[in-house]
Amino acid sequence: MTALSETLIPIFDDVVKRNPGEDEFHQAVREVLESLGPVVAKHPDYADAGVIARLCEPERQVIFRVPWMDDSGRAQFNRGFRVQFNSSLGPYKGGIRFHPSVYLGIVKFLGFEQIFKNSLTGLPIGGGKGGSDFDPKGKSDAEIMRFCQSFMTELSRHVGEYTDVPAGDIGVGGREIGYMFGQYKRITNRYESGVFTGKGLAWGGSQVRTEATGYGTVFFVNEMLRTRGDSLDGKRVVVSGSGNVAIYAMEKVHQLGGTVVACSDSDGYVVDEAGIDLDLVKEIKQGRRGRLSEYAESRGANHRTGGSIWDVPCDIALPCATQNELNARDAATLAGHGCAIVAEGANMPSTPEAVRVFRESGIRFAPGKAANAGGVATSALEMQQNASRDSWSFEHTERRLQDIMSGIHDRCLTTADEYGMPGDYVAGANIAGFTKVADAMLALGLV
Ligand code: GLU
Repeated sequence: MTALSETLIPIFDDVVKRNPGEDEFHQAVREVLESLGPVVAKHPDYADAGVIARLCEPERQVIFRVPWMDDSGRAQFNRGFRVQFNSSLGPYKGGIRFHPSVYLGIVKFLGFEQIFKNSLTGLPIGGGKGGSDFDPKGKSDAEIMRFCQSFMTELSRHVGEYTDVPAGDIGVGGREIGYMFGQYKRITNRYESGVFTGKGLAWGGSQVRTEATGYGTVFFVNEMLRTRGDSLDGKRVVVSGSGNVAIYAMEKVHQLGGTVVACSDSDGYVVDEAGIDLDLVKEIKQGRRGRLSEYAESRGANHRTGGSIWDVPCDIALPCATQNELNARDAATLAGHGCAIVAEGANMPSTPEAVRVFRESGIRFAPGKAANAGGVATSALEMQQNASRDSWSFEHTERRLQDIMSGIHDRCLTTADEYGMPGDYVAGANIAGFTKVADAMLALGLV
């Protein structure tokens, strides 16, 4: 861990005291504060006016019971969350995660990250996040529907196209968004398309939204390479995960001439030296909600359940699974194999110790709040289309996404330069994301 500047230590200590046991949230706050030393040195007013301390406290947090009936007629319940973190730049915006690991600390870490990520996109969206400790694994379609409807029955009173606009995240895709949007529509009797993003194309969704997080991450990597006169052509890439982010990151790598040689799910990982067969991954993961071991069976590829996917040598590593999935040991292995770039498709997949190893070993590292911002940016494009009752072509929307990612990339580098840390994407993303939100908070009075 890097040391915090003196003005920021009491702010961080206070966050830990106010939010006991929320380790992931502490980690996310500390990571941002570590970048803000030079900012408060240059502009002491941010700390003096209390903006930094207030930014670490969500504007509103909702916790609710979600009762639902399972297929055997037994009553079940889970806990639902929505953390409305910051609305200085626009309505709260951020996904909903269904996973047994979800608790308030996870939702807060994700909501906090979302503030800076959304700010970096340059689009008018605030930061928020929601979720539930509901485990979709092994649930029937009818159970998923009943759960989503019950979740939305409560959440509906807290969201709206000018208030808070949820979307998907881990465990929440097009099917779940459909059930939640449908329930919202019944409760409110309003066809308020702009209340949700990630909708199906026939009912207010945007082209490219499904692909956007993965595509955007690879567009960002492409920019990193381009600034050094290089390209993805011929590069060996490892992508963790096999969900929505990973699948479309792999697709874009292949389109741009690279080869993805490994991907994973929670049971293990597959290595396919001929290049991962994406159609097969899609068929298994999206078509039948199956496991990657089935991939190995049908392709004769290597499926490993022990060790780490980061043991597979590569030029570029894209962690696209979940938080803290890549540790210092993995980072050292990547460095030892000559990996040059790590870009985060997931939110905070690299531990702070791993990031230190990247830094020390000269691996260029793009943090999630910059590299994976394409998803939420395309959500903002979906909101634009909903507001104007329009729908854009795939080509136009993808071009917008590409421009947004190259804008974020430039903003990171320009800001890092401005603060004397050339090439530091972490500092650039945190500082650029922060200053825009902090300036808005100051302009809006005591918020
Ligand atoms: N869950 C995505 C993220 O982590 C997307 C959120 C959205 O589109 O609102 O950024």
